[in-house]
Amino acid sequence: MSASPPARQHNTSDRRPTRLLTQNSELKPLGVWNWSLPAWAGRLADGRTYNTCPSAGICRFVCYARSGTYRFPAVKARHEANLAFVLDDPAGWEAAMNRELSTPRFTDRWIRIHDAGDFFSDDYTRAWLRIIRSHPRIMFYAYTKEVARFRRLIEPDPPENFLWVYSYGGTQDTSLDPTADRVADVFPDEDSIAVAGWSSQEASDLLAVLGPRLVGIPANRIPHFLKRLNGRRFSEWQTEVDAERADRRARSRRARLRAVGDTTGRSAEPSPLRRAA
Ligand code: SF4
Repeated sequence: MSASPPARQHNTSDRRPTRLLTQNSELKPLGVWNWSLPAWAGRLADGRTYNTCPSAGICRFVCYARSGTYRFPAVKARHEANLAFVLDDPAGWEAAMNRELSTPRFTDRWIRIHDAGDFFSDDYTRAWLRIIRSHPRIMFYAYTKEVARFRRLIEPDPPENFLWVYSYGGTQDTSLDPTADRVADVFPDEDSIAVAGWSSQEASDLLAVLGPRLVGIPANRIPHFLKRLNGRRFSEWQTEVDAERADRRARSRRARLRAVGDTTGRSAEPSPLRRAA
């Protein structure tokens, strides 16, 4: 048997976090623990690139988890170590999460899945489903923009101890139905939430899954974020961006058809007769 070159190893086992669940200043008073990944896209220390929020839209421009304390080197390294653990040793990560959740401190508590990041793949989502089902005495919740994945993998048979809210500002916003889905939108401020008739979750993050179905989140008071938000809701901003993109695509398609028509001397538009056939 000939020897093949060794596969590239990502030796991150020595940097694995010993504890997977933490509490931040917002969730600690509620007794909620959370699991976090690094937000959106980046590069791990070993050079691998990642995107933990594949359906993020405009939210990435004003992402709370890409500013402030989340950018502290120790915090960022911790979140990246979490991600590396999931990617390098998914079975080991799942076992470690199950072990940690089996300790009495989490019994009858809430776990927020993802302070930052999202359900970035089917395998990762299925792993969470197995974890959630293994711990019926723990309640889990999440915000997500992975609408299609949830419709396919979670909605048909959701675990009883898992609640979620779809959040606007992603590339799948148009798949959301605010008359039926539990949805969260970021608003410029508390007043605009009340004017729209939505319910603010400002008093407790758990209201996002336990309160009324239309969940309003007041925007972070970060001046350059507020400037970009420009008085809009995330859903409105995303709709504008989607419309601009559709318009750009239509214009470039028309330009391509015109160019083909110029080259051949014929109109590149299909014959209306053929179209009707
Ligand atoms: S999905 Fe959440 S964590 Fe990811 S970029 Fe958007 S706001 Fe940030």
